[in-house]
Formats: sequence, C-alpha cells, structure tokens
Amino acid sequence: MGVDNPLGENVLTTSLDALVNWSRKSSIWPMTFGLACCAIEMMAAGASHNDLDRFGIIFRASPRQSDCIIIAGTVTKKMLPVIRTVYEQMPEPKWVIAMGACACSGGIFDTYSVVQGIDEALPVDVYIPGCPPRPEALLFGLMKLQDKIMKERNSFGSSIGLGERYIPEAA
Ligand code: SF4
Repeated sequence: MGVDNPLGENVLTTSLDALVNWSRKSSIWPMTFGLACCAIEMMAAGASHNDLDRFGIIFRASPRQSDCIIIAGTVTKKMLPVIRTVYEQMPEPKWVIAMGACACSGGIFDTYSVVQGIDEALPVDVYIPGCPPRPEALLFGLMKLQDKIMKERNSFGSSIGLGERYIPEAA
C-alpha cells in the first residue's frame, strides 16, 4: 500500500523568473504624474469605468513607491529636469510608458520649447500613439508592458549581483 499522492493537486513547479515577473506584472504601481491633456485620459483609465485596480495597477503619489512612470502629455524642455529627477528617485526595476503623440515624438509641437520625444531622455518601454489615446489604448499599452515584463530574464538575479538583467525591446 503506502501513500501514492499525498499532496494531490497542490504542488506546481515554475522558474524563479516566471514567479518574479508574474508578481511584478501583477502589481505595476505608476506615478501619479501628468503633464497635459493626455493626463485626463490617464485619470479616466484609473477611474471606475475602466478600473485599472483590477490589474493590480494602483497610482502612487511618491516616486519611491512607484515602478512605472506614464509620460502623459507634452514634455517641455523646462519640465524635463523635473521628470528626470522623479524618474531617478524611482527604485529599480522601473518602466516608462510614452502616452500620446507628444510624449512619443513631440506631436504637433515642433517648436524650440518642446522635447521631440521622451525617449531622448528616458528608456521608453511602451509607446502609445494617439492625440489623445483613449483610456482603452492606455489599458492596451499597460497589457503590452505586462507582456514585456513576463519576457524579462534574470531580473531577480541581477538585483542581487548575479549576472545581467535581460530586457526585451520596446513595444
Ligand atoms: S498628444 Fe494630444 S492630447 Fe496628448 S498631450 Fe499632446 S496635444 Fe494633448
């Protein structure tokens, strides 16, 4: 006789990468940070109709508690140092979403005072086109970011000094 299957269906095996990536993609905490009209759509995405909370996406009021920054609006050259400071205060690992034409490329503002795309200053993970993109587009962009996080390799090992973190290309 003996005990054949004492643990039943209660055990599953996985890799550390999959577990860490799954927990990170399920708890993306973006900065509460908006720059222009696109920020209104970002706020709508967080409100009850679209409800980002169901993805574990909860806006935080401090860069020290955030792992994602959504650049939602026109980036002026005067504002760029502030954005850099906020980004540098966020702990690793962290992700950047360029929301809307202005954040992606300067949009209609091809002028001396506007940065022609936030990727001139920050490493963008996901680009969302549109002027403005609807909340659904931001939702889709966040799901793209989740896919990207799931493809990362050795993100935990690199944080304790074991090898390099592999980050897939921007989506
Ligand atoms: S992309 Fe359009 S809606 Fe968004 S900040 Fe620029 S002008 Fe405003």
